[in-house]
Amino acid sequence: MSERKSLQTTLIHSDYRAPGGFAAMQTAIHYASTVAFDNVAAMRSRQWQQKTGYTYGLHSTPTTFTLEGRLAEIEDGKHCVLTSSGLSALALVNFAFLKSGDHLLIPDNAYNPNRELGAWLSRDFGIAVDFYDPMIGAGIAALIQTNTRLIWTEAPGSISMEVPDIPAICEAAHQRGVLVAIDNTWSAGIAFRAFEHGIDIVMQALTKYQSGGSDVLMGAVITRDPQLNQHLETAHMRLGHGVSVDDAYLVLRSLATMKLRFDAHDAAARKIAHWLKGRPEIARVLHPALPDCPGHENWKRDFSGAGGLFSVIFDARYAEQQTDRFVDSLTLFKIGYSWGGANSLCVPYRMQAIRNAWQEKGMLVRFNIGLEDADDLLADIEQGLRQME
Ligand SMILES: *Cc1c(COP(=O)(O)O)cnc(C)c1O
Repeated sequence: MSERKSLQTTLIHSDYRAPGGFAAMQTAIHYASTVAFDNVAAMRSRQWQQKTGYTYGLHSTPTTFTLEGRLAEIEDGKHCVLTSSGLSALALVNFAFLKSGDHLLIPDNAYNPNRELGAWLSRDFGIAVDFYDPMIGAGIAALIQTNTRLIWTEAPGSISMEVPDIPAICEAAHQRGVLVAIDNTWSAGIAFRAFEHGIDIVMQALTKYQSGGSDVLMGAVITRDPQLNQHLETAHMRLGHGVSVDDAYLVLRSLATMKLRFDAHDAAARKIAHWLKGRPEIARVLHPALPDCPGHENWKRDFSGAGGLFSVIFDARYAEQQTDRFVDSLTLFKIGYSWGGANSLCVPYRMQAIRNAWQEKGMLVRFNIGLEDADDLLADIEQGLRQME
């Protein structure tokens, strides 16, 4: 071979090396499907299961490792896997821990796609699924069967906002050797220390506060126990989960401000929730920090904050048409799913369609309080309420 490579080869194999010693505030974005090994021995000895090295872009890059490590730190866990959405993180937990013949318990107020996933597992995958009253607490013991493998919790339920008694559920589950997973998205890992309260598996929709930009979809599953992590890593690998490193970078970039944003959402949401509590149009304010909210006592005992998401029940004299008009009249609040971004959002829900036992007569409307000035948001809500008459 001649010393001089052809131009075509030079375009692919360059001798140039950038100087070392570069240090920036942000994590580098490492794009990779293929990861290069120094030699065959290194290729043969490195295993994807060991998170100490790199084998293939799907499993690890320095960018995704850094995000996983930082998310585990935030939750005070040890291990983390990333998935392409919050929903895929929920599904990953189910596939990692359930097999046909097992029994799964899901709270009746769970994030609706998780409920629908449960219904699908039950219909097509031979897994028995029961939906339980989220306020069941220690009473969950009566629902645990010999084949119960996993109990999902969500604290609070992200539409109807009941705050479950997580320590009581975990205690009853652990007495029978059952795993407890939490959808901890509402608290962002900030306001609820899930592992300290007995949880085995923490799931996060990073799409919400961790992203903070309403522009990234991503999920995470965090554990402390290496064996649970091994189950997750295996399912993660078999199912081919991967995330974009650009998206991982965006989440990493937002983490530095997450608590400041969360606290700002929290302060504004509480101000607005208290104001709504005094309005004649509103029957109940379902905000965990207010006594109207089922499980308010659990929130006071176990949580250190609240974030920007809460719901209200309108007085039963207002028909759906009127509460829809309220939502349509808002100008600063956009109509849209999700939360955790800078924009305030508002969504009316037809609760009878998504809950087994829903007793409220009035319409439920959910608010995500963004980062706008709280008084401007209050003025917007006030003019919207006037449009209902
Ligand atoms: C948004 C959300 C999810 C799903 O996250 P996606 O990234 O949108 O799939 C799951 N659980 C809760 C509580 C959520 O709010």
